[in-house]
Amino acid sequence: MQVNFHGAAGEVTGSMHLVEAAGKRILLDCGLIQGSPEAEARNFAAFPFDAASIDALVLSHGHIDHVGRVPRLVMAGFRGPIYTQRATADLLPIMLMDSASLQENEAERSNRKRRPGQPRAMPLYTRDDVREALTQLRPLEYDAHTQVFPGAEINFRDAGHILGSAIVELRAEGKTLVFSGDLGMKGTPILRDPVSVHHADLLLMESTYGNRNHRERSDTIQELGEILDAAWRDGGNVLIPAFAVGRTQELLYWFARQWNDWDMSRWRIFLDSPMASKVVQVYDRHHALFDAEARAVWHGTPNPFRLPNLRVTESAEESMSINRIHGGAIVIAGNGMASGGRILHHMRQCLPKRQTRIVFVGYQAEGTLGRRLVDGARWVRIHGHDVRVNAHRHTVGGLSAHADQQGLLDWYAGFSPSPPLVLVHGEDLAREALAGEISERHGVQATLARPGMLIEV
Ligand code: ZN
Repeated sequence: MQVNFHGAAGEVTGSMHLVEAAGKRILLDCGLIQGSPEAEARNFAAFPFDAASIDALVLSHGHIDHVGRVPRLVMAGFRGPIYTQRATADLLPIMLMDSASLQENEAERSNRKRRPGQPRAMPLYTRDDVREALTQLRPLEYDAHTQVFPGAEINFRDAGHILGSAIVELRAEGKTLVFSGDLGMKGTPILRDPVSVHHADLLLMESTYGNRNHRERSDTIQELGEILDAAWRDGGNVLIPAFAVGRTQELLYWFARQWNDWDMSRWRIFLDSPMASKVVQVYDRHHALFDAEARAVWHGTPNPFRLPNLRVTESAEESMSINRIHGGAIVIAGNGMASGGRILHHMRQCLPKRQTRIVFVGYQAEGTLGRRLVDGARWVRIHGHDVRVNAHRHTVGGLSAHADQQGLLDWYAGFSPSPPLVLVHGEDLAREALAGEISERHGVQATLARPGMLIEV
């Protein structure tokens, strides 16, 4: 068995690893590269392998940086089955249709600026391409050891990262390859904790927060409450760029849990992401995957997804109308790194105002607007306009859907004996720090994946 690294090898997006085992080629993840326009242009490049030669695709979870190039793979000739956890299979149409719409809009915008005779921009893929790709989906349950080819079996374990997220175990040729996918934090609301896996001959492990520990969740929740309080006193709005799956549900969960403590009923809360209401329905369908505490909250009052002052805005007009509210509104809008989506027009309105509070609740990749804001930019460019940033910025790290350094180390310590490992899905500083810790504690030298690197199991 061998693994070839083609994405999220030295960065945190574009997850894609090619496994050759039992005479077959199995691709793990097929994610979109996200970040700067230059980085995203790489999504248009040909795959570094013949897509038609891939026998099966296995998707760890529904985040777009893990699944966003699936339609491209099908367009390039991939005809095999796409295995994924059942809840992920339900999230995929929402994620990929949204991605296709963004791509179509982007191409259309670019074409409007082109002169007659200039070549026309093509979207990365269209909604029709997505429909085509989805016909190849094969949903599986957790812990349902499944033979994908004679001599090759996959098994999904709960990764506790978002609904349906999976750690992938791949057994072939007498060896076990474990791919962590993205690992969640222990104690993340709604979700169960990541399953501890004990055996691997080779481990591919994510390392997004390999050099950092999140704060205690209770401190984070207290801080969030204080930010909301201060925002209320200042009379401004609160903008939260949020990933449509995971973080958004967690925020609503906390609003419900802290309903009285935070006096949440005084706010107008907007969920300004058309994807979100669809994702809520998927969560509702899969509440059997929730942890016990979340199941209890779901049956209490108020229900996190049905807060009495929550408005789910669907149309663009409704979204724009939020801009007329100058205070007392909490606006949760995509996308999470402010690299596109409705959050941009809210930011354009609200960033110049001192009483605005921008709350980042997740990882901001290099090259994104979110990252520039987190890094303290005084001016940013949005929709072709220079925008002065006077708003307060807060990074609330403890809500991350990713395990922190301690979480990753604890998960790795669950293996016996300590397997050789390749660190993926992390920037170099994070990976080097994590590799150092693992070497010190377990005497195992981690390999840092590089694009094109080949590793024999
Ligand atoms: Zn993820």
